Amino acid sequence: MAAASVIRATGQLWKLGLALAALVAGSVAPLWPEATGLDWTSGTVLAVAGYAFGCLAIRCPQCGDRWFWSAALDAGLYGPLFGKPACPKCGHGFGHDHA
Ligand SMILES: [Zn+2]
Repeated sequence: MAAASVIRATGQLWKLGLALAALVAGSVAPLWPEATGLDWTSGTVLAVAGYAFGCLAIRCPQCGDRWFWSAALDAGLYGPLFGKPACPKCGHGFGHDHA
């Protein structure tokens, strides 16, 4: 069974992946500053930028609600975001094949 996530259904999973990659990279890269070229300051900037990108870029195509920003304010939204193929804000369903 594919996860019935509205993020996947609207084709925005890559934005989430990019945000998480920056978040994780910024958090662990400074452990090996010689290899990665990142110290804790630039690592933190990268992690915060990744988080901000996720909050700002992942939006409902229907009503424009910034899902992760809303979820940052109301953690109860994470369940619907990952569990249902519909916008928790406007209720628009994206369940079927989305080009
Ligand atoms: Zn919506």
